[in-house]
Amino acid sequence: MSRIFSGIQPSGELHIGNYLGAVKNWTKLQHEHETIICIVDYHAITIPYEPAQLRTRRRDMALSLLAAGIDPNVATLFVQSQVPQHTELAWVLNTITPLGELERQTQFKEKSQRQESINAGLLNYPVLQAADILLYRANLVPVGEDQVQHLELSRVVARRWNATYAADNDFFPEPQPALTPARRIMGLDGQAKMSKSLNNTIGLLEPPEEVWKKLRPAITDPKRIKRTDPGTPEVCNIYHLHKALSAPDTVEHVAKQCSTAGWGCIDCKRVLFESMERELIPIRRRAEELRRDPAHVEAALADGAAHCRKLAGETMRGVRERMGFD
Ligand code: ATP
Ligand code: MG
Repeated sequence: MSRIFSGIQPSGELHIGNYLGAVKNWTKLQHEHETIICIVDYHAITIPYEPAQLRTRRRDMALSLLAAGIDPNVATLFVQSQVPQHTELAWVLNTITPLGELERQTQFKEKSQRQESINAGLLNYPVLQAADILLYRANLVPVGEDQVQHLELSRVVARRWNATYAADNDFFPEPQPALTPARRIMGLDGQAKMSKSLNNTIGLLEPPEEVWKKLRPAITDPKRIKRTDPGTPEVCNIYHLHKALSAPDTVEHVAKQCSTAGWGCIDCKRVLFESMERELIPIRRRAEELRRDPAHVEAALADGAAHCRKLAGETMRGVRERMGFD
């Protein structure tokens, strides 16, 4: 059985891109593998933030993940900053990570462009991410497409550390990505991928009226200007959302109606809204239940952190021994 690890930043609200690209996969894989899910709050401070807001967002993220279907009876859910070994291992890994590899990372280039002054944490983000994964010696990391490059780097780091310090040479397994067909959901503006920090999202817990308000003006195939212009489904984000959320015969119907101009984009969006509601209604209901029982959320996080501190402590003992710190 593989061990699965994945993380999400409490940098804003959980959105349908996170859900379709990663979180929904976690809820499935948790029944097939040992699964560890981390709310990576130390990652979230690599861009400017408000401390009070971080507190709320961390709690909201935990609640949203449980509402989305993470089951603390089968999976482990915890907050990164409650397990100090993450930053300890990150420091160690920093000393073997090639600087050039960090400078090449697309996420660093994109996120640093949006900052006036660039902090070293943003550059070293993938090292902390490698530490998150390697600390649990996880084999499989279910993520969206944007994280594939970071994972590649974590394999480089694992290989380097093994070759330098581990005579057995396989202390850290090389983690492989697990992707879904909805690995890259675009933002509603059609300009970039949907991102918590870009204000182009549909939140998983938004009320239906808000969802429709956002979906209605969302960008579709830019070449469909008049109602009578036939469209190309493959270039339309709405079609990709249909593929992730609608039944196969509906998806087929949508493609036909789009490419023959049988429907206008608004008709297509109405059908998507129905499919989306089918998925979101039970999630909203579970979130309501959890809001009434915050102790349940806190207990899940406390148990998760205690379990992870134990696992992380064991790995760090092995690391310290092999590096001459014992
Ligand atoms: P931020 O803007 O703060 O980076 P984010 O929306 O990119 O937020 P992350 O916490 O960085 O969210 O990523 C959580 C998980 O969701 C990762 O596995 C990531 O690959 C996945 N993910 C993020 N955005 C998308 C998207 N648009 N489509 C598919 N998967 C996504
Ligand atoms: Mg991100």
